[in-house]
Amino acid sequence: MARYTDAVCKLCRREGKKLFLKGDRCYTGKCAIERRSYAPGQHGQNRKKNSEYGMQLRAKQTAKRYYGIQEGQFHKYFLMAEKVQGITGENLLKICESRLDNVVYLLGWASSRAEARQLVTHAHYRVNGQKVNVPSYLLKAGDVVSVKEKSRESDKLKAVFEANASRPVPAWLDKNAEDFSAKVVKLPDREEIAVPVEEHLIVEYYSK
Ligand code: SF4
Repeated sequence: MARYTDAVCKLCRREGKKLFLKGDRCYTGKCAIERRSYAPGQHGQNRKKNSEYGMQLRAKQTAKRYYGIQEGQFHKYFLMAEKVQGITGENLLKICESRLDNVVYLLGWASSRAEARQLVTHAHYRVNGQKVNVPSYLLKAGDVVSVKEKSRESDKLKAVFEANASRPVPAWLDKNAEDFSAKVVKLPDREEIAVPVEEHLIVEYYSK
């Protein structure tokens, strides 16, 4: 399926939740969902309550859109999550959280997950000292992510780092701002994952 190219704020309005897809703007009064908190489109204000299936579909779409993951990849993560011990829905979110683009965003090294994806593709980051330019690269406990030395001097990246320096970093990531590195202490527990979704609905959606 092709990547979504329309206005991203419509995705938040469709899900009725802030998905933080636009960087700084999401934290201001200019956020579209704060000004028009109904679904986009002609009938957006008249939408009826979702059916059970509708709620499951919306939960799946919310998580996919929040992380910026395509359907095929997301379903693959679900199959992976089923094979791991533990609660499938939580496993699924942990896999999504451990993507390199997500971690770069959480560390404040990008203003949005979309920007993180682009910066990873342009090879600005290292994992355990090695070049990794694959946004979907899955990190594990003990991995160290860092900013490439040359990239630390880039004016564009310096501005991004400065703009996001005050954003809190979750405790499962040990960030060292001095040397532009961070260690994945462990994979996150559910309460450390901010995605606004009831993951059991996603499991129900794929289990039909
Ligand atoms: Fe747009 Fe961000 Fe608000 Fe979503 S949270 S509607 S992406 S400004």
